[in-house]
Amino acid sequence: DPERLRLPPWLKTKIPTGENFSKIKSQLRELKLATVCEEARCPNIGECWGGGEHGTQTATIMLMGDTCTRGCRFCSVKTARNPPPLNPDEPVSTAKAIASWGLDYIVLTSVDRDDLSDGGAAHIAETVKEIKERNSNIFVECLVPDFRGNTDSVRTVALSGLDVYAHNIETVESLTPFVRDRRANYRQTLKVLAEAKNINPSLITKSSIMLGLGETDQQIEQTMKDLREAGVDCLTLGQYMQPTKRHLKVNEYVTPEKFKHWELKGNELGFLYTASGPLVRSSYKAGEFFITSILK
Ligand code: SF4
Ligand code: SF4
Repeated sequence: DPERLRLPPWLKTKIPTGENFSKIKSQLRELKLATVCEEARCPNIGECWGGGEHGTQTATIMLMGDTCTRGCRFCSVKTARNPPPLNPDEPVSTAKAIASWGLDYIVLTSVDRDDLSDGGAAHIAETVKEIKERNSNIFVECLVPDFRGNTDSVRTVALSGLDVYAHNIETVESLTPFVRDRRANYRQTLKVLAEAKNINPSLITKSSIMLGLGETDQQIEQTMKDLREAGVDCLTLGQYMQPTKRHLKVNEYVTPEKFKHWELKGNELGFLYTASGPLVRSSYKAGEFFITSILK
């Protein structure tokens, strides 16, 4: 496809290595735990699993199956109206595996389950409780759906004992209808983030924006301000990458210098941390940032 933009050098990624990385990888085989990091072949796996300066290791697990009820135009997860039922053993088996893994920070993410009356909130909350019961030292971040704006579901997760409540706004307001599933909504995302914080003010809240979809600088800045206004504490910004030819095209490869600009802007706006870079994903070194910017 001649219209496709060429991949700039800063997006050509290296193969992860390192002692910690290999150790975790072999442990995972024994625990039979599947991570998003591996399945999505995330380029940050060496950094996240290896731990940063403080040796803080982060990994991401996907709950509630591999089939989503939504179909966002940037996402390659498969879609169905009625995915298979939840596995009732998942909270306990996941918690056991995570506890014996010895990680510092776990991100629990999931598909959207609009087919379930609570969107899966109770299942997510149960998983958090089971993890914390086995290892109270592990930090837990939940990257959750919007639950169609259902306050009861937001409350269930916000009071489950997690440390960080994350929900991604993904893009600027005007592009939202072209980028996210039609059931997602920019204002609703802001609303649930503000609600989580109101319900449990001790929570750290977090969101993420993908760049390179055709948004303007002014729109990015507005989105950052809207997130701050909703009380959001932490922000990540990364480059949108087209997963397959059927997905939205990349409009622009944003330079590392521009990502740096957004990091500084985020600091100026008062986010506790802003992780911004071409390869940054919403869970990028989340544990390392948590330890250095929030617990410090
Ligand atoms: Fe895993 Fe997220 Fe880190 Fe990628 S950025 S390696 S998915 S924790
Ligand atoms: Fe992908 Fe999440 Fe959208 Fe589902 S709701 S299609 S998992 S981005």
